[in-house]
Amino acid sequence: MKSKKKDIRALTKEQLRQFFEEIGDKSFRGNQVYEWLWSKGAHTFEGMTNLSLATRQVLQDNFVINHISVDQMQRSTDGTIKNAVRLHDGLVVESVLIPTPTRTTACVSSQVGCSLDCKFCATARLKRMRNLNPDEIYDQVKTIDNQSRSYHNRPLSNIVFMGMGEPLMNYNNVLKAIEKITSPEGLGMSPKRITVSTSGVPKIIKKMADEEVKFKLAVSLHSAIDEVRTDIMPFNENFPLSDLKEALKYWYEKTKSRITYEYVVWKGINDRKQDIDALLAFCSYVPCKVNLIEYNPIDDGAFQQAAKHSVDAYINALESRGFVVNVRRSRGKDIDAACGQLANKT
Ligand code: SAH
Repeated sequence: MKSKKKDIRALTKEQLRQFFEEIGDKSFRGNQVYEWLWSKGAHTFEGMTNLSLATRQVLQDNFVINHISVDQMQRSTDGTIKNAVRLHDGLVVESVLIPTPTRTTACVSSQVGCSLDCKFCATARLKRMRNLNPDEIYDQVKTIDNQSRSYHNRPLSNIVFMGMGEPLMNYNNVLKAIEKITSPEGLGMSPKRITVSTSGVPKIIKKMADEEVKFKLAVSLHSAIDEVRTDIMPFNENFPLSDLKEALKYWYEKTKSRITYEYVVWKGINDRKQDIDALLAFCSYVPCKVNLIEYNPIDDGAFQQAAKHSVDAYINALESRGFVVNVRRSRGKDIDAACGQLANKT
């Protein structure tokens, strides 16, 4: 039988205060519980030690806390930690802590599986099972913040929505999670330290621009030629580059926030001069920088990292035109924690 108890974290602070008033208690109990649930990250009602036993029992009788649990934690030789995170309904997603000398970054998931079908990504093979709730996204960040404090003696500095899933296909919940992460009642992190990475859903990019969100935007571009992009990212058929470009221009005009393009160079796919020329043209449209990501093989011979001279050709062309380009080496490869490798292998 399905439990009738409500998910307590679906309630706002005001609703929690009301609950206590309705049961004849003081409304400020709602504030205390809210603090336990979010900034203190309580997993159980028993742990809410400044509440009386009777109050904790009332909560227990009426609500559940659908907290995530870490099923398995793997540590890479480079310090990267990958968590297999179990959700209340038994499904599993993955999230990653990536330490560097200057920052610790959480890479979090936004969906179980993924709505999209990028041919080079392991997560795509899982298909989308469901969207994550705001609290399930928040919990991943809170868990990694705790890990960062205990393994690296410092709080989390950055968050990237580059784990499993397409964040813009679960936009409302991602936004609610970011509100909690940035709120002083949650983790109080600056939105400037958060990057949402998308394959590019033009309508939602415009909506975000209208809402004047303060986080950063990264777009997984991989090709600036429609035919090539549609081959490797089939959803491009419905959201062609012309629409994407227009939405990105709109984003920049509203937010003045420079866009990052993520780009992998593959042998025989996008390593020709015309691919580079198309990227240069795409980059001149809106202020941006390019991150060239190393390809992480996913047990599929169809994609291979391009030769070094092909990647260098991209770097030289971009730099000579005055564009900023970074080469991003992947971390945590030995534990399948790198970009595109998250697929619940365990
Ligand atoms: N759906 C979002 C976020 C998840 S993917 C998006 O598309 O941006 C995070 C990044 O990893 C994306 O830039 C994606 O294109 C890249 N990626 C996917 N598979 C990869 C692989 N096998 N090797 C390297 N990068 C990969």
